[in-house]
Amino acid sequence: MVYFCKQKAGGIDVRLFVAVDLSGEVKAALEDIQGQLKGSGVHGRYTARENLHITLAFIGEYGDAQAVLDALEGVRFEPFGLGLDGMGSFGGLWWAGIRAGGGLKGLAAQVRRQLAMANIPFDRKKFSPHITLIRDPDKQVIPQVKIPDVKMTVEGFSLMLSERGKRGMIYTELGTVSAGKEEETI
Ligand code: ATP
Ligand code: MG
Repeated sequence: MVYFCKQKAGGIDVRLFVAVDLSGEVKAALEDIQGQLKGSGVHGRYTARENLHITLAFIGEYGDAQAVLDALEGVRFEPFGLGLDGMGSFGGLWWAGIRAGGGLKGLAAQVRRQLAMANIPFDRKKFSPHITLIRDPDKQVIPQVKIPDVKMTVEGFSLMLSERGKRGMIYTELGTVSAGKEEETI
């Protein structure tokens, strides 16, 4: 585990989630899709490039980020590939789908198992991998878009702090766990 922001790791409740960050190429592809939606006249709250991610587990308000970091350190996984796969929606939230074989599901399951073992609360809804592209679109139906054929290798995941900024959410990485390593040294 590499700690990025130790001073935020203890004390008062903070909003936390565990996520896979995306490569520059995948983020560029997602921005391309957002551009196509904008080109089709869809207005709404588009996810900013730096906020594009895949949530593995949503913890919510919790006071001991250090305990979460410690629990996540127990996750062991090998790098795996992922790509993009169409679009879908949960009500007023449109997302890009993900093609990832079993690697992503396995990682989410392991993250959740470690959290559960450490008695850290998290949303236990079934994992449904997606990348949120826009919230509250002003159209009902997702227009046809061309999904760029991009791939990336997932080499790590992070504990994220979520704060409400003046211009939307600000996510900060508190620590990251890398694939295929016994111990991480700084
Ligand atoms: P806002 O809630 O203001 O629209 P947001 O959803 O980007 O902003 P958070 O609510 O802090 O910010 O969520 C962080 C991440 O966790 C997002 O990917 C979000 O979809 C996911 N998430 C939030 N709540 C839940 C939940 N109850 N179950 C599963 N995932 C969640
Ligand atoms: Mg939310």
